[in-house]
Amino acid sequence: MRAARVVKPNEPLEVQQLETPKPRGSEVLVKVESSGVCHSDIHLWEGGYEGLEGQFLKTTDRGVNYPLTPGHEIAGVVDSLGEEAEGFTKNEKVLVYPWIGEGRCPACRIGEENLCDKPRSLGVYTDGGYAEYVLVPSYRYLLKTADELDTDASATLSCSALTAYGAVKSANLKPNDNVVIVGAGGLGLMAIQLAKAVSGSKIIAMDINDEKLGAAKQNGADAIVNSKKEDPVKAVMELTDKMGADSVLDFVNGSKTVESDIQFLRRRAKLVLVGLFGGELKLSLVTMPTRAYRLIGSYTGTLSDMVELVSLASRGVIKPIVSNRFKLTQATEALTMLRDGKILGRGVINP
Ligand SMILES: [Zn+2]
Ligand SMILES: [Zn+2]
Repeated sequence: MRAARVVKPNEPLEVQQLETPKPRGSEVLVKVESSGVCHSDIHLWEGGYEGLEGQFLKTTDRGVNYPLTPGHEIAGVVDSLGEEAEGFTKNEKVLVYPWIGEGRCPACRIGEENLCDKPRSLGVYTDGGYAEYVLVPSYRYLLKTADELDTDASATLSCSALTAYGAVKSANLKPNDNVVIVGAGGLGLMAIQLAKAVSGSKIIAMDINDEKLGAAKQNGADAIVNSKKEDPVKAVMELTDKMGADSVLDFVNGSKTVESDIQFLRRRAKLVLVGLFGGELKLSLVTMPTRAYRLIGSYTGTLSDMVELVSLASRGVIKPIVSNRFKLTQATEALTMLRDGKILGRGVINP
């Protein structure tokens, strides 16, 4: 089989010819039809993240090994099953839950495998979907998807939409809340749809790109703020009758965005940090108790969240936006375009 792999950080991905894996036990081999291109793939490609004081947090220090086939948003059809795998048949349309844990830590025990102490996520710690086939460790991580659900759209549910859903759930939005969604890329747009669908709160979308803000409006944002052209703090205070935001979901989560988020929080507000832009933050400690706001980190979502999402998408309540399609040989181009902010919505690779 062919796979587009990161052989060495920062070098173009290599399309390699690999042996097609054979499923054993409860494993299932899935023929990949669509694999979403995610921001975290860029970090795998670059070999790390920016941490405190410009320090570089290397992916290899947290268990990532190269060469690696990225791709954790995987949709396709069942190819073959191990002898203990059950409930699926060849050519059945499936979506893969990629946030796999080792199964024994406290998080795994309560169904939060996405927060496992020793994660084995597909396309991060093991080979993922930028390939013709992917080996899924157990049939338990496969979800059947309806024929009507577009395969490219369904792929984006397993990270882009799942992460947005996890963040929306963390904020526990109420109908009259003012919620600011920072970053109107693939995740932000999905969060707008989900926040609208589950809460009916007033949504203010913030970005530095007018085209993305236009898409935010089309996806249900009540107001938009271009934080490059206007002061984000002033704009949010004006839009909320000087009260500030009840919740902020920050899908950029860089020093610059979070510094302004902090300034437009209402008392008791929740600031949900989701993006992986990185950097650092200076906090006034006394205002934490006096303003009683909460900082919440949110990472992907659980298998049960994904079951709910597939249902929402199948019923047309949310509509994932796929804007760019690439071939396996264009993986480097896909990542470069995403890094440069040139993908509106989500890009997918069709191996
Ligand atoms: Zn992702
Ligand atoms: Zn675990």
